[in-house]
Amino acid sequence: MNEKITQIKKFYEEAFQSLEKSKPLPYIEIRFYPYVGINHTIRVRDGKIFVRIAELCRDMPSVGQKALAHILIAKLLRKKVSSKAREIYSGFIKTEEIRDRALENKRSRGRKIISSAKGEVYDLDEIFDDINEVYFRDAIAKPVLSWSTGKTYRILGHHDSTHQTIIISKSLDDRKVPRYVVEYVVFHEMLHIFHPVEIRNGRRIVHSPQFKRNERTFEYIEEAESWIEKNVRNLKRKVLKQKKK
Ligand SMILES: [Zn+2]
Repeated sequence: MNEKITQIKKFYEEAFQSLEKSKPLPYIEIRFYPYVGINHTIRVRDGKIFVRIAELCRDMPSVGQKALAHILIAKLLRKKVSSKAREIYSGFIKTEEIRDRALENKRSRGRKIISSAKGEVYDLDEIFDDINEVYFRDAIAKPVLSWSTGKTYRILGHHDSTHQTIIISKSLDDRKVPRYVVEYVVFHEMLHIFHPVEIRNGRRIVHSPQFKRNERTFEYIEEAESWIEKNVRNLKRKVLKQKKK
């Protein structure tokens, strides 16, 4: 087991012990998982706790991991999530998103911005129409679809409800990327239109249980997720190399 996972595992054990003083510490498994967005899951099976942390949060500093551990364990045990942990975690997520967008802006500045739905390999309008027909019976009104101007890797897709826009990372407009991967990312963003953000007890629910259930109906879900899991790190390496140029 690598060092990072071992350290993160400790945070979950500490969180469990501080929230559940009377019960023995269960076995806890930690894995990073290639969810498209910033999205994590925790569940219990056969008395063991399984935690899947979004790949996007792999490089989150310890303080953020610790806060996330508290949040997920509290949710699992149906205990109150401390506002401090929530604050630390959401602070980190915001900086990540801002950093990602800033990087993208920096690249596109001073350059002619040609961002459209028609990429070099894939046409997002075409993919949207296919997915809309198969999974939504054409019920989704077409938003503005566009490839990102920079090759982001932290966020593969983004839906902006204010501007009715879906942006897909340019890193996926590549012959090496299977079409079902692009479809999966577009499908995820379309689900955001289908399941708008809910506000419950003052909290924003972005990926509701229903959203997640729907997402599992994607025909190539297993293939798409395992492709992303295997390749996101390569995409990242490629982007970092380009940055150095
Ligand atoms: Zn999402």
